[in-house]
Parts: sequence; structure tokens; C-alpha cells
Amino acid sequence: LVVLGIETSCDDTAAAVVRSNGQILSQVVSSQVRYSDLLAQFGGVAPKMAEEAHSRVIDQVVQEALDKAKITEKELSAVAVTIGPGLSLCLRVGVRKARKLAGTYALPIVGVHHMEAHALVARLVERELQFPFMALLISGGHNLLILARDLGHYIQLGTTIDDAIGEAYDKTAKWLGLDMRKSGGPAVEELAREGDANSIVFKASFLMNVNLSCIILVLRFLVYKVDVVMSHSDAEIPISSASGEDRRARADIAASFQVVSGGVASNQFVRARLNHIVEKKCLQLVCPPPSLCTDNGVMIALTGIEHFLMGRYDTPPPACEPEDVMLDLRPRWPLGEEYAEGRSEAR
Ligand code: ATP
Ligand code: FE
Repeated sequence: LVVLGIETSCDDTAAAVVRSNGQILSQVVSSQVRYSDLLAQFGGVAPKMAEEAHSRVIDQVVQEALDKAKITEKELSAVAVTIGPGLSLCLRVGVRKARKLAGTYALPIVGVHHMEAHALVARLVERELQFPFMALLISGGHNLLILARDLGHYIQLGTTIDDAIGEAYDKTAKWLGLDMRKSGGPAVEELAREGDANSIVFKASFLMNVNLSCIILVLRFLVYKVDVVMSHSDAEIPISSASGEDRRARADIAASFQVVSGGVASNQFVRARLNHIVEKKCLQLVCPPPSLCTDNGVMIALTGIEHFLMGRYDTPPPACEPEDVMLDLRPRWPLGEEYAEGRSEAR
């Protein structure tokens, strides 16, 4: 099987072509401004802007994925697309593209759960990874500890009470005045290497079921204190114009913050800590490479393949209209809740 995966649930427009033996034939990601930044700047119009950004590049991203894989639409076995959870206006862009391809080329179409895909991509890295396994999903919108029992069957063991860790990283980066070309996480990770992780003790040490927004508030206060000491008038002084002392203070905050929250899965510090815990328990830790941890089309194609092989897909009749390709859109979809049996028009 050769499957095209399409992902547009949040900030990234992504597509990839993957074989059922796990071979990645192509992977293309086009990143836009982070949705949370758009929201802060433009409020209610942000989803519309995010949708427009996806719409502008979706055809090009999919074409590039096909070209790089040296494959035509006709040669595909199926199209997989994220149907939730996510912003419905954004999800719609990917689903519309997938429906169009499926309708035009009579390709089977598979709807995929974004967080299930984040979890299952580990099976690409470790081919021996069998159900059941535990997965820690720490991303821009989720903190989830789950027990993956089987394909489509997940039990949630823990989550955040409020913010997601990725969000906390992004806010921290902004307050520390870091350069956030793509997202805050990598910038905090880099600065944290210069700091002392024990300089500030945050009174929380769990990734799950914690009130992350309280920690964020404390953190905001610490940055504010640095600003007062350094006589800054504005909290968000860019790191590039910070003095040596100021930079060190910010690095200490970044390093101490990492102890608290861990950060998302591409973070080397988190990996090292998890490895330590896992070794003690005689378990195995599987960490996908960073490019497969953040949003990508590979994980969607891969999860699509798994569902396709289980017979869960739609096959539109040849040359039907895209609107006639049935696929549910599920913007709010807790992981563990069943895939819909009957298909209905996108909400
Ligand atoms: P979700 O998957 O929950 O719907 P999302 O798709 O927006 O959210 P991802 O693309 O999976 O999120 O992850 C992006 C988040 O990961 C951002 O918040 C970013 O700051 C964070 N991140 C990326 N790299 C790192 C890193 N090296 N260290 C810490 N955080 C990181
Ligand atoms: Fe994601």
C-alpha cells in the first residue's frame, strides 16, 4: 500500500506519502504563524486567518509530497486525513482536499484522529512495538498520558487541568524575549542549556493532573522580577539586547522551568528524564525523532494505513463530486471515543 496523509488541524499544513512497510517516500510541512499568536493579535478572526493560510498552500504541499515521492494520484492506495480534534475551519481545508482527491481518483479515504496519530507514529520508529503500550502525548494543545489498548481503543490515565505544556513553553519563550521563529519550545530548550536548573524550585514535579497555569503565573512573576532588577520598562525585551547578567537570569528561569514541566517530546531534557524513569522500571522508551513529534503528514498516513488494513474506510464511486465523499469532521473528539460507525456530512 502507498498512502497519502494530510494534516491541517492546527498551525501546520502537512502532507506525506508512506508505504505500508513504513518507508517514508516524502514528507512536506509548511508552517504558519502559531494559532495562539494569531488569537492574541486578532481575537475572533484568528480561525479565519488560519484557514486562509492552510487554503493558500494546501494544493502546493500535497503536490510537492506526491512529486517528491515520484508518485501520481492514480498510484495511491488511499488518502488519509485528520478529521479531529482541532479547529474545524482548519480541519475542513485538509478534508476538502482529501475528498476532492478521493472523488476524482476513486480512492478509499480514511479519517484519522490527530492524537492517535501522534501516539502511533512510535510504531514506525520501533517496529516491534505492540499493543498494549503507554503513551505520553505532550504537545501544543494536549498533555495526555494514555494506555493504548488496541487500534482505536485508548484509556486516558492523566491530563492537565488547564494549559498544555507546549502552550506553557510558548508563553515562557515569549516572556523571556526569545526568538520564536517557529515555536517557543526549541528556543527555551536552547537557552536552558546555559542556565542552572536548580536555581529556582517550582513546587510541582508532575506532568499530569497539575495546575499548569499557576506555574505559568509564577514564571511570569519571575520574569517580571528580572525585568524590575534590570530596570526594563517592558517585560518582553528581546534576548538579543539583554546584558550578560540579564541573559543568565533568564537562562536560569528557562532551565528551572524545564524541571517542572518537562516539555514536549522532542525536548532532549524530557527524553533523558523519561529514559531514567523507564530504565528503573525495566521498561522500554520509544521516542520518535523531533520531525515526527511535531505535526506531520507521516503520522496521519501511517495511522490511516493501520485503519485501512482493519477495513475502516470509505470508498467513493468513481468521479463522484467531492461533497459526496462521506467523512465525519470531529473538531472535539476525546481520544478513546469510538470512531463513528455511520458516516454523516461534515459538521
Ligand atoms: P496538538 O497536537 O495538541 O493538537 P499542536 O499540533 O499544535 O497541538 P504540535 O505541533 O504537536 O502541537 O507541537 C507543538 C508544540 O511543541 C509547541 O507548543 C512547541 O513549543 C512545542 N515544542 C516543539 N519543540 C519543542 C522542544 N524542543 N522543547 C519543548 N517544546 C517543544
Ligand atoms: Fe499535534
